[in-house]
Amino acid sequence: MKNNKVIGKALFLWLSAFSLIGLMVIVTGLWYFISPRLHEYNVALPLVLLSALRIFFLILVVGTFLVFLTSVFEKNFLIANFAVKLFIRFMYPICIFVGKIFRIPKAKIGESFVSVNDSLIKALKPKYKSSDVLILLPHCLQDTSCPIRITVTPENCKRCGKCNIGDISKLAEEFNVDIAIATGGTLARRIILEKKPKLIIAVACYRDLVSGIQDVFPIKTFGILNIRPQGPCINTRVDMQRIRDALDKVIIKNDK
Ligand code: SF4
Repeated sequence: MKNNKVIGKALFLWLSAFSLIGLMVIVTGLWYFISPRLHEYNVALPLVLLSALRIFFLILVVGTFLVFLTSVFEKNFLIANFAVKLFIRFMYPICIFVGKIFRIPKAKIGESFVSVNDSLIKALKPKYKSSDVLILLPHCLQDTSCPIRITVTPENCKRCGKCNIGDISKLAEEFNVDIAIATGGTLARRIILEKKPKLIIAVACYRDLVSGIQDVFPIKTFGILNIRPQGPCINTRVDMQRIRDALDKVIIKNDK
């Protein structure tokens, strides 16, 4: 399991590294192209610019190496906070672009992005009161034969065992954490605006997790991919242990 997680992160990390190397090659090419003209303005200008580029490249290389260490070992190697911002804000669309060139499926990059995001957040070791944490679930977790309305009031769930909603309700009660069930991104955003959590444990498919993680930033979001034994959006399941592990990691002890 641990090994799978590392492989999962590896795709996004290598794509990021490759994108940054590509950026360095392009910028160096540009420099060679424009440096003769700069020389005409001032003889020292190309040298100043080259020195600035070298410093910039050094920062990129060291920074990328530290992000690799942070993500693989889930420990804060100085820059976890900065890495979370950089990777969530900028690297995903760049990696999707580079992935297209190599025909890597978007879903694989998305799943890898979610893994990297989780490991960077874990490296920060966030701790919150249970009232600041929200478990956000997709409606497709509910068994389709269940007649109970749970989107507005999840507490209506009878915990009959047919789907994971009952198990998650019990877990939420144990940890004294709020749960919310959203039928789509708009409702999810409204719930977040109302409840104002500081950390979200979200269950969804990779597409919703990627957009959700980016939309709610700077709120930290642990993404847990749902399991889809009957295909997408119907009777989905979730690995309960992953939710429990996330709660154990983020909630301040004695605040359950
Ligand atoms: S666990 Fe709750 S939501 Fe799921 S089928 Fe039973 S009553 Fe419905």
